This record gives sequence, structure tokens and C-alpha cells, in this order.
Amino acid sequence: MADVTAGLITGKETLEFRRFPRTSPQPGCITVDVSLCGICGTDISSFRSGHLHSPAVCGHEWVGTVADVGAEVDDLREGDRVVIAVAAPCGRCPECRSGLGEHCRTASAVARGRDPLAPPHGGFAPSITVSATRVVPAHPELSDEEAAQVEPATVAFHGVRRARVVPGDTVVVQGAGPIGLLAAQFARAAGAGQVLLVEPSEARRKVGLELGASMALTPDEAADAVQAETGGLGADVVFECAGVPSLLQTAVDLTRTGGVVCLLSFLAQPAKINAARWLSKEITVVGANAYTHDDFDRSMAFLADGRVKVKDLHTRTVELGDLEATLRTLAAGASDDIKVLVDPRRHTAGITDSTA
Ligand SMILES: [Zn+2]
Ligand SMILES: [Zn+2]
Repeated sequence: MADVTAGLITGKETLEFRRFPRTSPQPGCITVDVSLCGICGTDISSFRSGHLHSPAVCGHEWVGTVADVGAEVDDLREGDRVVIAVAAPCGRCPECRSGLGEHCRTASAVARGRDPLAPPHGGFAPSITVSATRVVPAHPELSDEEAAQVEPATVAFHGVRRARVVPGDTVVVQGAGPIGLLAAQFARAAGAGQVLLVEPSEARRKVGLELGASMALTPDEAADAVQAETGGLGADVVFECAGVPSLLQTAVDLTRTGGVVCLLSFLAQPAKINAARWLSKEITVVGANAYTHDDFDRSMAFLADGRVKVKDLHTRTVELGDLEATLRTLAAGASDDIKVLVDPRRHTAGITDSTA
């Protein structure tokens, strides 16, 4: 069988193409021919900072077609179109045994590439072998471009679910990257009365308005606008999707007394906060860490019937060989791109194999 060449971030501003032997899937596993794989904010920050995650996480937003099915897999067959998801609760870990299946540590470890069956690379490759429990069938109504964005959509869906947005809420979303633009749409679909987007980039504010945000504000305008729109109360729910440590306090400042701040961005750096303000406002902080297995089918239904649009988030598709140049542009913040997809099937002239 031919080898698989995968793009891997291996250090600060370094992407290498490495060759892996293509083998038949082990029992319980499937091999998927990847059609498209999205570039996530974690890939970009990894490339920028050199802070590496497990290689299996480098390229974790993909759609593809099942090419080979291992033994003991009875619910998938060759030709099925699937998207990457997270395994269902294992039923055996301490969390599962305590009835906390949605926090299953085994499923979480698998998703973070920290289990024995984790692939040695992610979806920036023409093919990948994963545990069959990690995929869900792609909704037939979705194009590949849409299906490749189910994973980030489900991140946002999970956050909106966790934050318990209720009809009529005033919701603020900080940051109009893919996750922020998705959170704004899911909040609206959950019944939010108004959704105020806060984002420095004019291009992204424009997309936010097109996707249904009530207002798109610059960071300087946010405090006054939120006060004016809520009669001096503050927002019911604020989603932090910008990933900027100082915006953690800003999120609390924009929230009403007794309101909810939902952390959807991954703040890798310590954040300075005014804890007394958190206490006096009786803020509820909700962490939203990825998703659960059942979140995927639920979020996909919103994409399929058009309540949440991912088409407009997709700004371009690049070839696998252009991945390094694309990461460089995105890491420099030098583009108006929102979601860039990588097509590993397409021409790979830029690939230099660096397998030792
Ligand atoms: Zn991601
Ligand atoms: Zn478990």
C-alpha cells in the first residue's frame, strides 16, 4: 500500500511533511480518505508559538469517505461520508461511573490524541485511520465544505448549550473568528433577543452582520453600546471567543449582575482579573471544552436546515502543499480569512518529504 504523507506542525513556524506507512485498520478502527480539513485557531497558534499539541490534533476538522473498515466495526461501511467527532462516553472512567458521561475522560483523551490508538498525524493528509467511535455520518444535505466545518460549529453549539441561552437574552460575543461567528448564530437560533458582536476587524464585523448579528461593534464601542441596548443592565450572556487574556475581565464588565460568562476560546496565557467585580456581580462562569458525541448530530441539524450558515465562513480552499505558506499568512494575521480549508487530494507540488 502507498504511504501517507501528512503535514505536521513540528515547531515554531515549522511545518513538515512526513511519510507514514498506510496499513489496514486495526479492529475497531476505520481508514478515511480525507476530502477537506479545516485549519483551526489552535493550528495557527501552535504554528505561531511552537506550543505543540499531540500530532493527532494537528488538523482535527475534517470530512472524508470511509475507505477501509477494520474488524468489529459494524455500523460503518466503505463509501460512507463521515466527519470527525468525539467518541461516546466510555462508561468505565471515574467520570462515567459517577454519571458524568458528558465529561468522560477517556473520550477527552482520545480526542486530544492521548490514547494508544491515536493516529500519528491529523487530517492534513490524504488519509487517516481512527477509532470508528470517533466519527459520525455527515448529514446528506451538507456539502463537503460545510461538513468540514461541523467540528468548529459543534464547539460553538456546545458552548451555547452549556451557557443556557434562553429566549429574549441579550448576548454579547467577543471575537468574530469562526467560533465567535458560529456562537452568535447558535445563540440567535436558541432564541437570543439580540446578539452584539465585538470585533476589531471591519471585514469580520461585516460578515457578522450578514449572518444575523444585531450589531457589530468595535471594542471601543462595546461598553457604551451594551449599556444602551440593555437599559444600563448589561448582557445576560457573554461568550469569550477572542482568546485574548485581558478580554476575560472585559467579558465580566459587559455582563449583567447575575449573568453568565462562557469561555469558548482557549486562553493559553494567565489572565489578570478583578475578582471583586466577579464576586459583587455574582457572575456564573461556564467553561465549554469541545463537545459531546451527541452534540454533533444536533449541531449538524442546524447547519443542514440553514439556521446556522457555515458557507460564508469558508473564505478559501488551499492545496496540501500550500499549507505552510497559508499558516504563515494566518499566523501573521495578514489576511481577512475566516475559515481556510485544506484539500489534501489536490496537487501537492509544494511538498518536500522530511521523513528522516
Ligand atoms: Zn479546533
Ligand atoms: Zn468515560
